[in-house]
Amino acid sequence: MTVASTHVFHRQLQRKPPVAVSGQGVYLTDAQGKSYIDASGGAAVSCLGHGHPDVLAAMHAQIDKLAYAHTSFFTTEVAEVLADKLIANAPEGMSHVYFVSGGSEAVEAALKMARQYFVEIGQPQRSHFIARRQSYHGNTLGALAIGGNQWRREPFAPILIPVTHVSPCYPYREQQAGETPVQYGLRLAKELEDAILAKGADSVIAFVAETLGGATAGVLVPVPGYFKAVREVCDRYGVLLILDEVMCGMGRTGTLHACEQEGVSPDLLTVAKGLGGGYQPIGAVLAQKKIVDVMRAGSGFFHHGHTYLGHAIACAAALAVQQVFERDQLLGQVRERGDFLQRLMHESWDKHPHVGDIRGRGLFWGIELVQERASKKPFDPARNVHVRIKREAMARGLMVYPMGGTVDGRYGDHVLLAPPFISSEAELTMVVERLGSAMDAAI
Ligand code: PLP
Repeated sequence: MTVASTHVFHRQLQRKPPVAVSGQGVYLTDAQGKSYIDASGGAAVSCLGHGHPDVLAAMHAQIDKLAYAHTSFFTTEVAEVLADKLIANAPEGMSHVYFVSGGSEAVEAALKMARQYFVEIGQPQRSHFIARRQSYHGNTLGALAIGGNQWRREPFAPILIPVTHVSPCYPYREQQAGETPVQYGLRLAKELEDAILAKGADSVIAFVAETLGGATAGVLVPVPGYFKAVREVCDRYGVLLILDEVMCGMGRTGTLHACEQEGVSPDLLTVAKGLGGGYQPIGAVLAQKKIVDVMRAGSGFFHHGHTYLGHAIACAAALAVQQVFERDQLLGQVRERGDFLQRLMHESWDKHPHVGDIRGRGLFWGIELVQERASKKPFDPARNVHVRIKREAMARGLMVYPMGGTVDGRYGDHVLLAPPFISSEAELTMVVERLGSAMDAAI
């Protein structure tokens, strides 16, 4: 089949991407019959790979019963069962799930839930958010304002709500000589405390952070104790903690929620991407009981909503994804295959002149590329190393998720790997071989 339309408003307007026609397991195939290993799960979405029979069967079964019922009239059995399952496996204290259609919607809903909570408990003066540089929380205006990706923010800066941005947890670049990881984490928590106090302790709504940074800095892994210290600071000033696990959550780091490994429970937790595994657009906000109780006893209503909240087919797909995780014990497999991938990358690139850092957890990895290892000097952004890597990787039948440095050129190019949880060792080996070859050709 040839696709002649020129009317799709593509992300990249100067060049049309290949046409994807089918997907099976870790592979996607284009209209020319060329196949690609999906080593990034698109954008950390396709946790079960493509064409998973159990998810497809669940979607078919649901569509035969009911595709859609608007949430101002009805709930559905499938939304209720999915919410029960998510809460049964949620961080401590979470009691309710608010379903949306994706990651940005989840972040927007969480920001508004946090604000409404304070309005309802009589603290309407709280109106400010604190978040981190080098973060990404989505492209809608609220989520973009919270995010710290300068390149994405810049054209829209005059129309974004003011947000205070503090340092991300980025040991490779920002942990000081002579500072232990724990001391570094405490320094960052102190920076957050100072930012809260500078704004006025009773004027801050929430601190928002990705548990593991993803789409801006190529996977940032928190140092031990960082999030516990952050939680304590938030509690000290009555500030809510919103963790955004749209990318790093849903099993990707080897536990269902990445924050489990940090020993903290946020007030609000956003998830998406792997929740529906790419089979349907779905996201969610998991909320602490205290927040839902306040709204129920107060206005009785969350002042928010979209047409497709809790879409029945999306919930059916997400429920099937959760059931496959459990039946096939996939989170253990993520940890095991993650260890294999980590070893392989270190064996392949520990002496590579342009691989500055390899970091991640489970099947969520970032590779930071530098012009020079010793000085950690990034490539000149004008060289567009990440764009060239993506092109070379696609030429070799490999999908990875590369990102450019920041506008100020302080941080360099990265490649993000987020392969499906079902990837075999042989497939992961192929990923590393093809990526190594693509990096060498691009640099
Ligand atoms: N939050 C995080 C951490 C993300 O990585 C993303 C997308 O990459 C989003 C939010 C936005 O999600 P979506 O693209 O589904 O709107």
